[in-house]
Amino acid sequence: MRIPREGLPSRGFSLLCKLLNNAKRENWCQCHLADQQIPQLLEKVDADVAEKIRQGGCLHCAGKLHSAKYRRKPRGQPKQDWERDQEVYRASFCCDQDGCRKRHTPPSVRFLGRKVYWGFVVVLVAAMQHGITPPRLHALRESLGVARRTVEHWREWWLHTFVQSPFWNAARARFSPPIDLKTLPLSFCEAFGVEERRDRLLALLQFLSPITTDSIPLGWSM
Ligand SMILES: [Zn+2]
Repeated sequence: MRIPREGLPSRGFSLLCKLLNNAKRENWCQCHLADQQIPQLLEKVDADVAEKIRQGGCLHCAGKLHSAKYRRKPRGQPKQDWERDQEVYRASFCCDQDGCRKRHTPPSVRFLGRKVYWGFVVVLVAAMQHGITPPRLHALRESLGVARRTVEHWREWWLHTFVQSPFWNAARARFSPPIDLKTLPLSFCEAFGVEERRDRLLALLQFLSPITTDSIPLGWSM
């Protein structure tokens, strides 16, 4: 039976609500994590960007781009019911010219590089590390099935790999006042106003999307 994505009871989320309903900061995080429409919204955004990349053709020659998508099994949402039935792909293309065949993987608002969790989970849970008490972070991890080691790895990635990336080097000047690097990615969530609206989370994920691919130049824009 095919299960529609919307309107599912999310058991994991009701647990989340019970555990994390005090502070405002916790509320916006859990609301985004539980929002059943976010994955659909992000899928549409990714599909639009992928179509623009495809239409633009090969960046290295005059070749056309053919689909060579990757199957992904992203983790980190209390929505296992439909995930079992739903194939998730990351768009990617290959040039059709012999001697080139270069791969073009579009920037994504869903997948942060090769991380196996949904990108917004990597952002929100890593942000929560700076905002909530250890027992609550533990509860959040448990409800999303994220190991403590994984969250520590994300923290390392934000505080070291990300801040040294060419992307951040080029983008940091856009922020005034400057971003507090010690509390990444919470400081991004605050700078983008993610606590207020879903579209602000999307704006943050779009801002970050150039780091999700090595095959499209940083300066590429829609
Ligand atoms: Zn080519």
